[in-house]
Amino acid sequence: MSIKRVLFVVAMEAEASPFVSALSLAPCKSVFPASLPFRSFSGSHNGLDVTVVTSGKDATYSTGVDNVGTLPAGVMTTLALQSSSFDLCINAGTCGGFSRKGAEIGSVFLTKGAAFHDRRIDIPGTPFKDYGTGKMESLSTTNLQAAIGAHEGICSTSDSLDHDERDDERMEFNDTSVKDMESAAIHWACNICNVPHFGVKVVTDIVDGERPSAEQFMENLGSAAKKLQETLPKVLNFVAGKEIKDL
Ligand code: SAH
Repeated sequence: MSIKRVLFVVAMEAEASPFVSALSLAPCKSVFPASLPFRSFSGSHNGLDVTVVTSGKDATYSTGVDNVGTLPAGVMTTLALQSSSFDLCINAGTCGGFSRKGAEIGSVFLTKGAAFHDRRIDIPGTPFKDYGTGKMESLSTTNLQAAIGAHEGICSTSDSLDHDERDDERMEFNDTSVKDMESAAIHWACNICNVPHFGVKVVTDIVDGERPSAEQFMENLGSAAKKLQETLPKVLNFVAGKEIKDL
């Protein structure tokens, strides 16, 4: 059966807005209870039903900071996937990229897997160590990658924007190309809901370079969101009329 209903999970409003506007998606009330901070938009594109969810703002802080990180990402993905049936879930967003894996500012990576780099549960003789690392394989997207000229790689997730030596060791061990703060949580939610998943991540900062991630991130967030706006319709146009196995 060809793919019909696609869910995009995006952490930050700034990442989602240009894409939501470009596709003329309208706010939609049927995905989340009104009392929750998560937001959703829906519409159609090239014969596909498209829904975009974002994690909304944290009401505790008057500045209206986005609910980034694994907890909001996992909850909103699970709720969205329970609200209706989706054929495919795509995590779209920004990430830090490793130059040793070919990343440059603005590069697009399709995830071939996800893992966590800060869940250290090393209890010998138990499966908790592997559970902590939480390696998951994404849907294979070889044809899509070739069609849109994207890189592919493993995305590693933690709840921190920065990283220390222990994170670095784990990311290298897991053959990480890009890092973010949501992918593995979204992937996990897709797995428990049995919905095929991959990520489309645009690089805002170089992790193994000279400058701090935060500085580069703020500088490049706008252009990365624009890149998502250009890339995501190409992804949808490729997906339209295809089956999961054709991606
Ligand atoms: N100072 C920013 C922080 C946003 S957090 C602000 O308040 O606007 C960074 C977001 O971008 C997260 O959603 C994360 O998934 C992504 N991201 C981009 N570069 C990252 C990196 N190097 N490490 C981890 N997450 C990164």
